[in-house]
Amino acid sequence: MSDHPALLASQLEDGKVRCELCAHRCLIRPGQKGLCRVRENRGGELFSLSYGRLIASHVDPIEKKPLYHFKPGSLSFSIASPGCNFRCQWCQNADISQISSTNEPGRPRFVAPERVVEAALASKSQSISYTYTEPTLSVEYNLSVSQMARDAGLKNVYVTNGYMTPEMLELSIPTLDAANVDIKAFDEAVHRRYTGAHLQPVLDSCMALLKAGVWLEVTTLMIPGINDDETQLQGVAEFIATELSLDVPWHVSRYFPQPQFRQIPATPPERIFYAMDVGRKAGLRYVYGGNLLTSTDTDCPNCGERVVRRIGYADAIVNLKESACPKCGFRIAGVW
Ligand code: SF4
Repeated sequence: MSDHPALLASQLEDGKVRCELCAHRCLIRPGQKGLCRVRENRGGELFSLSYGRLIASHVDPIEKKPLYHFKPGSLSFSIASPGCNFRCQWCQNADISQISSTNEPGRPRFVAPERVVEAALASKSQSISYTYTEPTLSVEYNLSVSQMARDAGLKNVYVTNGYMTPEMLELSIPTLDAANVDIKAFDEAVHRRYTGAHLQPVLDSCMALLKAGVWLEVTTLMIPGINDDETQLQGVAEFIATELSLDVPWHVSRYFPQPQFRQIPATPPERIFYAMDVGRKAGLRYVYGGNLLTSTDTDCPNCGERVVRRIGYADAIVNLKESACPKCGFRIAGVW
């Protein structure tokens, strides 16, 4: 399979191309690649270098995305192609995200979209997750897979940094059922310094996804001394509470040092508990600590009844009565 013509590209003078997939909106000269290194200008036409070049595929519990209010206890067939448009120094998947599909020795193999759907069905997954790297960069392939997945009765899930343009959102939303968006910092200077990207487009994507009816959960990986100060934590919590919804779950996760980023020690669990408290004080109904050994269960925010009990990541007992708490009748937000 040759590389695939890219969508969301405008042809300009002198063979230059403007990529309109993500908010970087790279201006790419002939023979050059965009910042993500997986979209290339060939003779005035933009190509996706990652179309179907799967670098990872795995069957995961949906909770691992993390999505806690979307088909709890189900499996999600998870795929990844190379590439990312952020440069987070602590990335836990840098070995597959910070490469292009052409510079990797033994270039990732091509997998036809229908094979992904067949594998998802065979694994008894209820959804396909586009994850591990930055999935939006492979929008052309994702659209092929997601449409087939829909036809086969599967859901589609993006686990993304949210750095999408409105054009990209418009293209993707019709076949998208759920998304987990990472808000990596709530200070423009911090976000820019550590990811190489602006904060506002991420927030705009969250609002657009929610408005379009895509089930949304938000994650913040807490890096001590970078994004875990009170101001930033309150910023994320209040953004969710006021611009999104009190029903949008917020996952605050522990960070652990990576081989390429050892200078900051792991997030102390107490700091996660503090962030969870900040979220609850902002009125958020569903706040979860990630990468902790404590409970991941969901309790009714009205009466405290346990409405989803999780056994590790592998199983969930859903104790809901028509999407509501069986004890007090409070509606628990989610896709059950
Ligand atoms: S996806 Fe983003 S980073 Fe990649 S070429 Fe397009 S605008 Fe640039």
